[in-house]
Amino acid sequence: MTLEGKSVFSGIAIGRISIFKKADQQVIRKKVNDPEQEIARFEEAKEKAKTQLMALYEKAMKEVGEINAAIFEVHQMMLEDPDYVDSVYHIIRSQGVNAEYAVASTGDNFAEIFAAMDDDYMRERAADVKDISNRLIEVLQGNEQGEIHTEEPVILFAEDLAPSETVQLDKSKVLSFVTHLGSTNSHTAILARTMNIPAVIGVDFPQDVDGKMGIVDGYTGKVYIDPPFSLMEEYQQKKEKDEEKKRLLLQLKGKENITLDGKKINLYANIGGVSDVAAVLANDAGGIGLFRSEFLYLESKDYPTEEEQFSAYKTVAEKMAGKEVIIRTLDIGADKQVDYFNLGKEENPAMGYRAIRICLDRPEIFKTQLRAIYRASYYGTLAIMFPMIISVDEVRQIKKMVETVKEELAKEQIPFKEVELGIMIETPAAALVSEELAKEVDFFSIGTNDLTQYTLAIDRQNQKLDNIYDPHHPAVLKLLKMVVENGHKEGCWVGICGELGADTTLTETFLKMGFDELSVSPSMILKVREKIRSIDTTK
Ligand code: PEP
Ligand code: MG
Repeated sequence: MTLEGKSVFSGIAIGRISIFKKADQQVIRKKVNDPEQEIARFEEAKEKAKTQLMALYEKAMKEVGEINAAIFEVHQMMLEDPDYVDSVYHIIRSQGVNAEYAVASTGDNFAEIFAAMDDDYMRERAADVKDISNRLIEVLQGNEQGEIHTEEPVILFAEDLAPSETVQLDKSKVLSFVTHLGSTNSHTAILARTMNIPAVIGVDFPQDVDGKMGIVDGYTGKVYIDPPFSLMEEYQQKKEKDEEKKRLLLQLKGKENITLDGKKINLYANIGGVSDVAAVLANDAGGIGLFRSEFLYLESKDYPTEEEQFSAYKTVAEKMAGKEVIIRTLDIGADKQVDYFNLGKEENPAMGYRAIRICLDRPEIFKTQLRAIYRASYYGTLAIMFPMIISVDEVRQIKKMVETVKEELAKEQIPFKEVELGIMIETPAAALVSEELAKEVDFFSIGTNDLTQYTLAIDRQNQKLDNIYDPHHPAVLKLLKMVVENGHKEGCWVGICGELGADTTLTETFLKMGFDELSVSPSMILKVREKIRSIDTTK
């Protein structure tokens, strides 16, 4: 049997399938003689659950950063919610029943109330109330939540995985996971990437796969159940080749990005959030060349606060331990829609109200982000770059805003460091006036994904045009060359952070053009390094 879904992390896994079972939640209503003793049991369970959540929070903080860990703090607070606690007390005392039953009823009631609310955020709290109630019941029953009862590592199948479940999985026992629900940006997908195991979502699977052998192909999104021996052999070989390649590439860790004739280039990584930093470090990137900060906004139900953003930027700065981290300011609009921004429908969203245009039009949002970045700058080496620039005037407006933010922080005696300021060159206009722009900033980073779209007038999202969306088009390459030359004339360093940066058929061209930096996805770092080390630019 072959099942299909959407891969959210590549790799190959072969092993036995185990369907993730939530711990046994059968709760029996029992009459008790001493309700006060049940109250005491509940209080004890609550303390134990809080300790568990605290440990999960610490673990998640280390592995995936504060933003993703925050859910466990929310759960700790929910356990102390007076309405929730009162309801449990009331059921125990008024009905004279066991604590398990009182917790289960309270959980069901509250989840129903939340689920019926209009507000999306509140509706989602229904799952959290269930989550904390289940945890309490497990503690009361003496069970451990969601333990994998097997010695052998497995391919874990689940309907969906709550963040609390994914984080507490024993990684050494999970080869891959396959879920029916979830999305590319869900907590589950983000955490899976951090766990560095192949993962496929959107797979509709029958229950009888439990215990069978399976193959997960994280490259194609295919999952094979009870595969024939020949397919197992084929995938075993693919897996070995995969591992061999990875092993060979790992030998390049710690090595310089230097050509045979001694030309050096910085190789940085692109990330979407705190959780990707582990992969950046594992692949030995020299820094982060593009932190797509809009993911903080996309993951949020409302504008992320200065504090939330500060904590994410600070975590990344600290984890990178002094290596440069370039944060790109909010780049929403077009394909990246966020409900609470109420951007409205546009005829031509790619050429519409987006990125820096929104930030300059809604300075309160921009200022919050700039304050958060500057505050975090104190904890590492940060740089800021601005997306979708078309004019010198925009850059001057931005710099004014930056000055205001710095003055305010200084007045408030909040420490910050000076940071490099750069712009993305992703419109033909910016490329054409790059000589003037270079006088205003410290660096350029070319966003070839958008630069190709706007230069060729081809919507990068339109599948029908995929075959002619060509970043190798001479018009695009001419602009790249022009931007490097203009940047260097004014003392700016120049890099590429679009997908083209990882295209090893062009690495030599980029080196010859004189690029100072390439920023690519973490998994491509060592491949590009390998390429650089094989090039002689004098030939
Ligand atoms: C780009 O346009 O090349 C780029 C790096 O930005 P994004 O893909 O996020 O638009
Ligand atoms: Mg772009």
